[in-house]
Amino acid sequence: MQPRSESGPPIATRPSLSTLSLGELRELILSRGLPEYRYRQLARWLYDKGAESFDEMTDFSLELRRELEREYALERLEVASRRDSAVDGSSKYLFRLADGAAVESVFMPTEKRVTLCISSQMGCTLDCVFCQTGQMGFYRNLEPHEIVGQLIPLWKRVRGTGTRTNVVFMGMGEPLHNVRGVVAACRLIMDPLGLGLGPKRITVSTAGVVPGIRRLARSGLGVRLAVSLNASTQEARERLMPRAAKTDLRELVGAAREYARRFQSRVTMEYVLMQGVNDSPRDADRLAALLAGGPFKINLIPYNPGASPELRRPSREQVDRFAQRLFPQAPAVTVRWSLGPDIAAACGQLHVEAADPPRTRRTASPRERGGS
Ligand code: SF4
Repeated sequence: MQPRSESGPPIATRPSLSTLSLGELRELILSRGLPEYRYRQLARWLYDKGAESFDEMTDFSLELRRELEREYALERLEVASRRDSAVDGSSKYLFRLADGAAVESVFMPTEKRVTLCISSQMGCTLDCVFCQTGQMGFYRNLEPHEIVGQLIPLWKRVRGTGTRTNVVFMGMGEPLHNVRGVVAACRLIMDPLGLGLGPKRITVSTAGVVPGIRRLARSGLGVRLAVSLNASTQEARERLMPRAAKTDLRELVGAAREYARRFQSRVTMEYVLMQGVNDSPRDADRLAALLAGGPFKINLIPYNPGASPELRRPSREQVDRFAQRLFPQAPAVTVRWSLGPDIAAACGQLHVEAADPPRTRRTASPRERGGS
């Protein structure tokens, strides 16, 4: 039996407001003969304020709330679970989607800012050796409302606190295999009637999908780009990221350079450091040479255990030595010790447990791999 609200038809038969674009939301309001400011109020309730029921929309008359409720549903992603870290204040959310799919997102507070890490796909086609998401296989791309929907409960924790907040597409999936969904979600996140975040507060991280980098550039959004590089030679990249490495390393670096030029902002090159795999002085020298003089920042991420028993995280001393070796040749180097390792929320650790079964398991269609 379908759920039913007191004042309307079964909820499942009503279109959900959260699946509408802002343009469609505006049209909905104007077509009812309501003034335009009602559209702005409704958008704010949906996104910035994250209302969970029409009753919360107290600047609407009771009559208007009932009218909207009769015709539309106000569905939110279901938070199936939330785990809070005992060591660093981060939280991992498991969201259940309408078709039974599930994805994870992470809330990461630091002294100066909060970072909200969201997913763009359930699973991933790329199967990088250091990442547990890749081991799940690929299920499907997320729709824009499923991407933005992850942010709603996380945003409520920072809204109104004045905390600098960034959104990163570094959760489950390869964002540039879902360009259509990611670009639409970014537009909503950036819109003043959405979450109102500027493009420099949003980072899209790719394992190296060059056509996707170019499409993201053509979208004109100007969000920050990060490239998960992890190797200083084509051969090493083929071992660590066999599917992503189908693109030649130099072509990838060239595409990142073009993107940086176009938006006049540095591209972050992420490098997961794995002991005895890619952390030698030679690796550091080759990495510096590969990126020499480019508009890049190198972000070293010590490996977080889980994906493979054969991989090890280097010690702090080894990480420091690698960074020091890079430093004179590549001055913009940072080390990111991931938050949330005690709740399996750190970089490379996101995956949906077997207890949360997806409906199907398949590989991406060419259309999904290419975005829209
Ligand atoms: S690192 Fe990113 S691209 Fe690689 S398998 Fe994991 S989610 Fe996919």
